[in-house]
Amino acid sequence: MENISKALRDRISKLPINNAPNYAEVMKQVYADQDVKQFLTDHQSELTAENINRGEAKLYEFFNEKNKIANHETSFAPGYKPVLTLSKNLIDVTYEPTEDLLEKRQEQNMSKLVTSVGMPKMIESARLSEFDMNENGRNSAYGAALEFIDRYNEQLKADSHQFVPGLYLTGSFGVGKTYLLGSIANQLAKSGVSTQLVHFPSFAVELREAIKSNQTGAKIDVVKQSAILMLDDIGADSLSEWIRDDVLGVILEYRMQNELPTFFSSNFTMQEFEEQHLPITKNGVEDSLKAKRIMERIRFLSRETPMSGLNRRNKG
Ligand code: ADP
Ligand code: MG
Repeated sequence: MENISKALRDRISKLPINNAPNYAEVMKQVYADQDVKQFLTDHQSELTAENINRGEAKLYEFFNEKNKIANHETSFAPGYKPVLTLSKNLIDVTYEPTEDLLEKRQEQNMSKLVTSVGMPKMIESARLSEFDMNENGRNSAYGAALEFIDRYNEQLKADSHQFVPGLYLTGSFGVGKTYLLGSIANQLAKSGVSTQLVHFPSFAVELREAIKSNQTGAKIDVVKQSAILMLDDIGADSLSEWIRDDVLGVILEYRMQNELPTFFSSNFTMQEFEEQHLPITKNGVEDSLKAKRIMERIRFLSRETPMSGLNRRNKG
């Protein structure tokens, strides 16, 4: 008891509260603090005068740390805020993470859950809350995105494993398809769902390079098994037969069998994609049947969602 008071007096003498601090004066401020008052009132029945007296060092510690945070000074445990607690009828201070710290941690977890291949950096900061709704052509896509997230989270909560189809975003260059995909992925990460975002043309290049080192199978596996998969910009590059049948076809087949939600973005509509992009002409013959089979899988996995509006890339 004597030691605590002495230690406290020593500490106080080093701290300039009110310029000329003395023990009684400082404690007057501590007891006038709203949180301290509230704590003492809440625990009236458990605290004897003796215990309050013994707890003065703790009350002071609480008061001091709280004010440091309020004044943006370096506190005892940055990122944590002091909380008064009662343990075995003795006053104590514990430290809990501040909202700022929790938010920062959430952001770190989010970035772990969203993985990508060949995507622009802007997807990291894409947020549904910042999705510009002023244009009609974007509202319905935004609504479809919210509906997907709701339904997906719902079936997770209910543990019902009900298949929720993804979106096939179609619209011209610059309307915000990639931005919307990134926003959906970041929103899903908040509920712990992991998403793979894949810029499909870049992935195709990566796979061709991986042939030498025999790594194509492993790369395809990672992508095809992701809880949520987003294939960005399909149709931006011409397809080889290998990429279409042994990469895209294999990925889509696996996802269909396992009912895993899959998103697409393309400048082509579904019909254009099927008729103009997927068929490959060999020996003068177009293999539209193979194109149809791929398209059936895309149709099963996603719902066509048109997006229109300004080309946002021209906006400064
Ligand atoms: P698309 O994939 O349809 O070609 P992007 O998603 O790449 O279009 O969007 C074009 C540009 O506009 C990008 O630089 C992107 O960051 C920006 N953008 C799109 N939507 C938004 C938004 N809601 N808020 C802020 N920037 C956006
Ligand atoms: Mg894009």
